[in-house]
Amino acid sequence: MDVDPNSAFHRVIAEWGGRTVFAVIDLDALAVNVRTVLNLLGPDAQLMAVVKANGYGHGAVAIAKTALEAGAAMLGVATVDEGCQIRLAGVDAPILVLGAIGDSERARAIGNRLGLVVSDAAFARGLASVATATFQKEPVSVHLKIDTGMRRFGAMPEDGVGVAQAIASLDRLRLDGVMSHFASADSNDDGSVHEQAARFDQCVGALRAAGIAINHQHLTNSAATLRFPEHHREMVRLGIAMYGLSPGDGVALPSPMKPVLTIHGRITRMIDLAPGDRVGYGGAYRATGQEQAALVALGYADGYRRSLSEGGSMSIRGRKAEVIGRVSMDQTVVRVPRGLEIAAGEPIAIVGDDTNATVGASTLDELAAIAGTIGYEMATGLAPRLPRLYLRSGEVVAISDLASYRELL
Ligand SMILES: *Cc1c(COP(=O)(O)O)cnc(C)c1O
Repeated sequence: MDVDPNSAFHRVIAEWGGRTVFAVIDLDALAVNVRTVLNLLGPDAQLMAVVKANGYGHGAVAIAKTALEAGAAMLGVATVDEGCQIRLAGVDAPILVLGAIGDSERARAIGNRLGLVVSDAAFARGLASVATATFQKEPVSVHLKIDTGMRRFGAMPEDGVGVAQAIASLDRLRLDGVMSHFASADSNDDGSVHEQAARFDQCVGALRAAGIAINHQHLTNSAATLRFPEHHREMVRLGIAMYGLSPGDGVALPSPMKPVLTIHGRITRMIDLAPGDRVGYGGAYRATGQEQAALVALGYADGYRRSLSEGGSMSIRGRKAEVIGRVSMDQTVVRVPRGLEIAAGEPIAIVGDDTNATVGASTLDELAAIAGTIGYEMATGLAPRLPRLYLRSGEVVAISDLASYRELL
């Protein structure tokens, strides 16, 4: 990606009159990530693109559309609201709500043709009666979830057949899949993954023996998709890796996958520091000599966490500019590398993607390590007020900000 001040996204931001900081979402990188994982799958396995939490902070609608174009068969969300948002944007593909939902959400889920996960017979019966009361022609698509060890959501394996039979007896419901979720696919605890899979297989065997037809089995999140091809079955559920972020310590993404999101901006103001000057709340940084600093108009309320005050760095003209003083709610100060002659308005790469164009700017995964969290939390913590620019073939094709979502091309 280009940090040239004349690059498409800097130009568009200037013309549009937008904020001086913004996330750039490279939809081509997303498509490459999806296709790279599709190439790892057998011919009969499909890919569910998980776009919950506003597409892991990237923007659910643009991500969903791009992932489907790149070959995803289905979308996964966590809540009914999230599913409705994507449906209302005109997306027709199957959407599965992965999380448990409340009774008050059932009618809206059915009305928006969202698939739901079922883990007990009473929920299935309630859902069928709500479906009867609506005018939806198609039965509700449901996936049976088996709790193979996570103790969060799902039927216990020994109850699987009973719940499946309840679903099969209700003609307003259609059993489209059987699923489970791994607790430790990203860690060294491979044994637990195989134990969970064995419990799942035993349950699937019992379902088949009871005469229940199973179209889709799906088990794997990103970490398990990359590490355990033997558990791909008929569908994989791809979240974090699709965004080019690591599912956990030491789980590397295959080439050429890379981060989809970077954050860029322009320096708002130059600051000359004299020896002994203190910077920011608490005077946490003290200049030792004559130094030049730069103000960047983003802070922890944008998702650039306060814990990055120590160790965060950005990139000016391909050189590392360290965060100095405390990151505050709306503003952050960096030290300008020695010998650089720059003025306010200079482009700055705030979060990088490990390519040459953003040398010196930490990636979201690196920032997560510095902040003591994981890339998932960094990405989903990016605030709605941070504008998102969507790039395709080097052109800005959409902008979303607090006020709107606009497709430009
Ligand atoms: C969020 C989620 C996923 C995706 O997990 P990643 O680790 O981001 O790939 C898969 N399955 C379920 C049930 C989920 O809730």
